[in-house]
Amino acid sequence: MKVGIVGTGMVGSAAGYALALRGGASEIVLVDHNKKLAIAQAEDIAHAVPFAHACVVRAGGYEELEGAGVVILAAGVAQKPGESRLSLLSRNAEVFSEVIAQVRRDAPDAILLIASNPVDIMTEVALRASGLPRERVIGSGTILDTARFRSLLGTHLGIAPQSVHAYVLGEHGDSEVLAWSAARAGSEPIARFAVQVGAPITGEIRAQIDASVRRAAYRIIEGKGATWYGIGAGLARIVQAIRDDQRTVLSVSIVTPEVEGVADVALSLPRIVGRAGILTTLMPELTESEAAALRASAELLKETGAGLQ
Ligand code: ADP
Repeated sequence: MKVGIVGTGMVGSAAGYALALRGGASEIVLVDHNKKLAIAQAEDIAHAVPFAHACVVRAGGYEELEGAGVVILAAGVAQKPGESRLSLLSRNAEVFSEVIAQVRRDAPDAILLIASNPVDIMTEVALRASGLPRERVIGSGTILDTARFRSLLGTHLGIAPQSVHAYVLGEHGDSEVLAWSAARAGSEPIARFAVQVGAPITGEIRAQIDASVRRAAYRIIEGKGATWYGIGAGLARIVQAIRDDQRTVLSVSIVTPEVEGVADVALSLPRIVGRAGILTTLMPELTESEAAALRASAELLKETGAGLQ
């Protein structure tokens, strides 16, 4: 499958690199208004191909996106240290309206995979600008937060993160909700499993894991200015679920008709991802306080999105 990447800064190029290493695409086309950058990134990623999987990697204009199955949108302006994701909004929304018109013209059948932050709002912006059905405009959402949640739980319990089923819901950002009550290890509720393996999840452990998931991006930004490897790999994972029609359950963001009484808001829930985009959305069973936190997250996103119209 041909995959386009618009915006070849740190996130776009990391996605291209991860795709090349995973064998997630037969062809990768990099587009950026900084053509020199796109050409350099394409050449650099192409040099990894002999050590990975067969794949053509090149830079090009929008017209070269023709026939792409997925186009990753990673264009925009970078998050500054200490800057909230939501404050990036207006600058990135402008870039998107320009980019999406061109992608829709040259790759009308492509699923749009949104990476630019604030990703939930940008997913809404992209849906509106593209006129595509909602299941074909997918934001990376909390895919990374969920991976981190599972990984930290796995470490605490001494098991592989693949055996942990737990999701981060809502906004990819400060208001996100770790769905503790729905978390499972194997087929067991997480708390029961934890007691059985002698590693109970105390209030302190819970608070540590919660903070570690929620503050991860801030910590990385403090040290290196931005984040790119994790999200690059997450984007490549979503592309593969689409390309191979894997029907994998991933926590990603699309505009959702109704969440906790809030209508038409983009946020993350566990969703089945396959060739047609999002096939089904799953609503985890939540406690009252988790449901209230999800409602608050949805309301916050709704307000921000409305401010943009
Ligand atoms: P990030 O860390 O999110 O990847 P960067 O600033 O490194 O952020 O990358 C964003 C990329 O998006 C830059 O390479 C920039 O040139 C590109 N970009 C910005 N505006 C546009 C646009 N209108 N069309 C195409 N690419 C764009």
